[in-house]
Amino acid sequence: MYDMPLYRPPSEANSLIIQATLGCSHNKCSFCSMYKGKKFTIKPLEQIKEEILEFRKIYTYVQRIFIADGDALIIPMNDLRELLKFIKNTFKECTRVTMYASPKSIRLKTIDELRELKNLGLEMVYMGIESGSEEILKDINKGATRDEIIQAGKKIKESDIKLSATIISGIGGKEKTNLHAKDTGSIISIIKPDYVGVLSLMIEKNTEIEEKVKNGELEILSSFEILKEIKEILKNINTDEKIIFRSNHASNYVSLKGNLPIDKDRLIEDIDWCIENSYIKNEKNRSL
Ligand code: SF4
Repeated sequence: MYDMPLYRPPSEANSLIIQATLGCSHNKCSFCSMYKGKKFTIKPLEQIKEEILEFRKIYTYVQRIFIADGDALIIPMNDLRELLKFIKNTFKECTRVTMYASPKSIRLKTIDELRELKNLGLEMVYMGIESGSEEILKDINKGATRDEIIQAGKKIKESDIKLSATIISGIGGKEKTNLHAKDTGSIISIIKPDYVGVLSLMIEKNTEIEEKVKNGELEILSSFEILKEIKEILKNINTDEKIIFRSNHASNYVSLKGNLPIDKDRLIEDIDWCIENSYIKNEKNRSL
């Protein structure tokens, strides 16, 4: 039933995945190979509904649903409304529907539309911030400026949909590590997502970033430097609002979890301990 490859955030490991779109509507980030082989498509609503009914026959109890692939929030409002209603009626026991969203797809929905989606069950969206630095966002071809990302993040928060944001440690290379740490800490402090997930840069084959590494334009950080950068990002996050901070993605060298701001010092101490004791995942055990 799935058009592979299929991706989902780590926290959706136990969710039923409904594939409403194929690929990513942007598909141009320099570090990303996830959907390179897929042409972005929004599947016809009738087809998605048929697949949902097939899932209903297989699964007797579905508590969580993740709508894939990339950027499902870009689905036009009429279809998205209909899709969420259909999910609600078919899986009455489901308490949480989530999906990926991009600054662009968030911009294309009004606050009222986002609130309506929330009332129809859309509990949370995952948005890739990657970096808070304008310069690095341009380097990686993110397709959104710092300001656009801030506006999108704030809009989601205002609509009462939960926001889970991802950032990528190492994305600016050695040259821009300080800039990345400072600006990423500050963008998190401004947006105040409910969750922040850290990934650590992995160089994927056939990506633009791989070319930059090969021709010396980007010098990648060592595992220790990645940890130091995460520590600097944490130091630069200043907010009184609760943010759940995690580095539980398979790409990371250490797994961290804590609530900001109360666990900030403890998280920094954990990183220091890992550095001092070389408690760092072996490179070959990292994956995307
Ligand atoms: S990182 Fe996200 S937005 Fe960028 S190309 Fe990959 S899936 Fe699309």
